[in-house]
Amino acid sequence: MSSRLDNQVALITGASRGIGRAIAQAYLKEGARVALVATDAAKLQALQQSWGSPADRVMTLGVDVRDRQACVQAVERVQAQWGGIDILVNNAGVYRAKSFLDYTDQDFQDLLDVNLFGVLHFMQACLPGMQARRRGSIVNIASTAGKWGSRNQSAYNTSKHAVVGLTRCVALEASAHQVRVNAICPGFVQTDMVETLKREASRSGGISADAFQASMLARVPLGRIVEPEEVAEMAVYLGSQESRSITGQSMMIDGGMVML
Ligand code: NAP
Repeated sequence: MSSRLDNQVALITGASRGIGRAIAQAYLKEGARVALVATDAAKLQALQQSWGSPADRVMTLGVDVRDRQACVQAVERVQAQWGGIDILVNNAGVYRAKSFLDYTDQDFQDLLDVNLFGVLHFMQACLPGMQARRRGSIVNIASTAGKWGSRNQSAYNTSKHAVVGLTRCVALEASAHQVRVNAICPGFVQTDMVETLKREASRSGGISADAFQASMLARVPLGRIVEPEEVAEMAVYLGSQESRSITGQSMMIDGGMVML
């Protein structure tokens, strides 16, 4: 059995499905103990049962990342039970497509509340403990949307640009304490969220979902959609000591769609 994350404690948000679930499974396989966060606590418990994981390896926490106090309490619970958090993966996120002129203030607020403030809340809750122990790795799941412009998703892109910027600034401050902060920028990944994107984009563009899928793939030099497990492999690398000299980076995993 491989053990790149042996003796590590990881807290992973948005772990009930998609990319977050794949990261949780990969971390477990590599020897970490994982604390899983999502709003749907029952879904997390069902996942834990389906994996047959003992309670000393998996903890489930029904937390809304928009709620600062709930995030702080979740971190305190993990620290009390498992002694500290070594890796934080901020993955919870939401998506909503509209043309810029149709977006309301509330749309922007809704996306920023989860995609930016959720990341902020968990970083501020975890960093003091990491800094005191002089070790830790934070992995923020941003997006290629945090690196370039896209049509009909200005609120989402704004939130992901903010995550990339925040990652760089916090990495600078935390490096004095040997804590690393990086982001992963996936392109199209096969999850519920990309199905929403396909549905909304084909509707607003007046084309079929199949036609939109073909136009999506035409933008990807490698010609395929990324699997959640591929993002999980990058998250294992950034969480592990193999990446010990990497901080402040936002690494693309997108089949070559964005070359910066
Ligand atoms: P997904 O399948 O829709 O899963 C989203 C996860 O976030 C779920 O576990 C959901 O659980 C959780 N979540 C949402 N709002 C939350 C909240 N307020 N508090 C706590 N948990 C919350 O999405 P995904 O595709 O795996 O995306 C994961 C991350 O990757 C997101 O940050 C997304 O922006 C980013 N990303 C995705 C793609 C893609 O193509 N799929 C591309 C680039 C970046 P509950 O519903 O139970 O709360």
